[in-house]
Amino acid sequence: MKKLLLAALAAFALSPAAAFQVPPDPAALRDAALASDTVAWDLLEGLTTEVGQRMAGTEAEARARDWAVRRLTTLGFANVRIETFDMPVWVRGEERAEIVSPFPQNLVVTALGNSGATPARGIEAEVVHFENVAALEAAPDSAVRGRIVFITHNMRANQDGSGYGPFGAPRRTGPSIASRKGAVGIVIRSIGTDYHRNPHTGVQNFAERVRPIPAGALTIPDAEQLQRILRRGQPVRMRLTLTPRNIGRRQSGNVVAEVPGSDPSAGIIMIGGHIDSWDMGTGAIDNAAGVAITTAAAHRIMQAGTPRRTIRVVLFGAEEVGVFGGTAYFNAHRAEGNVVLVGESDFGADRVWRMTSNLAAGNSALGDRIAALLAPLGIVRGQTRANAGADLGAWASAGVAAIDLNQDGTRYFDYHHTPDDTLDKVDPEQLRQNVAAWTAMLAAAANAPERIEPSGAARTAGQ
Ligand code: ZN
Ligand code: ZN
Repeated sequence: MKKLLLAALAAFALSPAAAFQVPPDPAALRDAALASDTVAWDLLEGLTTEVGQRMAGTEAEARARDWAVRRLTTLGFANVRIETFDMPVWVRGEERAEIVSPFPQNLVVTALGNSGATPARGIEAEVVHFENVAALEAAPDSAVRGRIVFITHNMRANQDGSGYGPFGAPRRTGPSIASRKGAVGIVIRSIGTDYHRNPHTGVQNFAERVRPIPAGALTIPDAEQLQRILRRGQPVRMRLTLTPRNIGRRQSGNVVAEVPGSDPSAGIIMIGGHIDSWDMGTGAIDNAAGVAITTAAAHRIMQAGTPRRTIRVVLFGAEEVGVFGGTAYFNAHRAEGNVVLVGESDFGADRVWRMTSNLAAGNSALGDRIAALLAPLGIVRGQTRANAGADLGAWASAGVAAIDLNQDGTRYFDYHHTPDDTLDKVDPEQLRQNVAAWTAMLAAAANAPERIEPSGAARTAGQ
């Protein structure tokens, strides 16, 4: 009895804020996350260990959803649910590339998403090299027809990851252009920045009425090897074997959980990451980290008492293969009209270095308060507009306020979409800094007394 009484007194002493509903001090919540968060690491370690790879539409991704429902429920989130949708599923097969002549040797290759298939014995053809997509586009069809196209690029590591846009073109559009010009296959220099012998996969979609051809990525060391071989000036013949398959439409889903707010009229703050991953690593940085960071931050707000605004965490399915989960969620829920702020974490787990937003002019004070809370974490305020990432970007485009907490991307494309995307690449201290940044942002935004306005970026019909 005495024990129970002491326990009750201790609980009361530990949570006076909860008892009186005083909004928690965002700086204190931030500092506590930075010093001692363990929830994010537990989630990240758990998802990558207990599920592993989580290819969209597969049984593994379904297990990840069930895992998330269990964890979110145990953590005390409300309204934990799965919202399913169907999507086309493509799965990897055999993957081999060999130089047949003049210098026979094997190269390391992986298929790009939605790659066409070769026969089981592979295809053999002469290789034709282009330094970028524009050079391929400009080439006469006769230079490409019947050949295996090889495209390189000059991507370098940088902090904001901006190279992924322009230098990702060989993966995104190279296969369609090569096919249209009559190529029998294509291999690209992996869209990455490392010199490990790991190929980088990633999605590409063949354009309308373009015949799917086998499309692969060579590791960067292998791409450079192939360039050296080509520079010898003799015709280079490659045998390429890629046997992926389309297995039809399967079920995927988004996992949703909430921290209910006290004021339904104040709108919902929606954050999250994607729960699916590519199939080669365990998807630690892409994107178990984002799942863990946003969930842990929302959990910290929940533990500090009831926020004014509901915080909704969405762990999206099937992002990697075409943002099917983000699109399904937007189409199902946009008309509800109650989401006032969005933000996704999907760029690894290295430290947040910059905050950007698209807040309306009337919310400049809120932006200033958040920036001031982030500054002690070494985070600067950027001038570019927040886009809310792949899964929540549709909301930002539709005029919902968005805040991006940009992570340092210097290492990101060393591991991105490779077998090397594993737990050991995450630095626990930097992970805590991410949780601290998201916690501070959420604490300020969820309890902001002012109205969170539309960004004003919405395009009206006809524009
Ligand atoms: Zn991602
Ligand atoms: Zn990815």
